[in-house]
Amino acid sequence: MSNVTIVTGASRGIGAATAKLLASEGHAVGVNYVSNKNAADAVVAEITAAGGRAIAVQADTADEAAVVAMFETVETQLGPITGLVNNAGINGRRSRVDELGADEIRRLLDINVTGCIVCAREAVKRMSTKHGGQGGAIVNVSSGSANLGNPGIGVLYAVSKGALNSLTIGLAQEVAAEGIRVNTVAPGMTNTDMPGADRIKAQAEKIPMGRVAEPAEIAEAIAFLLSDKASYVAGANIRIGGGRL
Ligand code: NAP
Repeated sequence: MSNVTIVTGASRGIGAATAKLLASEGHAVGVNYVSNKNAADAVVAEITAAGGRAIAVQADTADEAAVVAMFETVETQLGPITGLVNNAGINGRRSRVDELGADEIRRLLDINVTGCIVCAREAVKRMSTKHGGQGGAIVNVSSGSANLGNPGIGVLYAVSKGALNSLTIGLAQEVAAEGIRVNTVAPGMTNTDMPGADRIKAQAEKIPMGRVAEPAEIAEAIAFLLSDKASYVAGANIRIGGGRL
């Protein structure tokens, strides 16, 4: 069975590194993005130049209809879906809880939580043997901040990642007998646009290895969890934090 995997938020950062690695391992990849078409097209071009298969597919993962359309497009153009990487996410404004407005809370949870659950739903509907599918795997990209809590700068973000951890714990058990493995990776600070150069420099000192992660280092764990090498791994959370717990 050939692997067809959707990676949300694959135009940049961890998602882009994951899309490229998966393609090099034989996955046909749906490279999702929300607004940065040029970056998504560049990821697809790099994959196809190396002999892989990929398409760029625009969808705001907070938009249910757009997510459903994305799954239909990828299925039509690349074949039956076997994998999902729930990677798209935002940091939100740097703030304390007593500074948050309800609209910004809802917007962050729409992307970081609701979007991931809706993507997982669409993946399960297609991959579950209960629905006539062939099985598959889902990886939720959480964060070490789910346990650290991010006081003073991003409790809301940490809350959203805690919810993703629970999604894995529950959904992994719900669909384990239907041929689907669901797992989490929890990266520490990673060298992408998200944290920004200033925070990367400041945080490196708090990490036992003395440096932040590179996106390709997170991608390796995601690719492992999607692969048959992880055939008995379900409901797991792999912390990738350079020694930071
Ligand atoms: P990034 O460099 O900021 O890239 C974000 C990606 O998500 C982009 O491809 C962006 O698309 C896409 N995106 C944003 N909002 C979206 C939406 N509503 N619908 C669809 N796509 C959307 O992020 P990153 O650092 O690689 O982070 C990836 C994941 O890892 C996130 O879930 C993040 O929380 C998690 N994480 C990151 C770190 C870190 O330090 N970087 C640490 C722990 C966990 P466009 O290019 O079109 O904007």
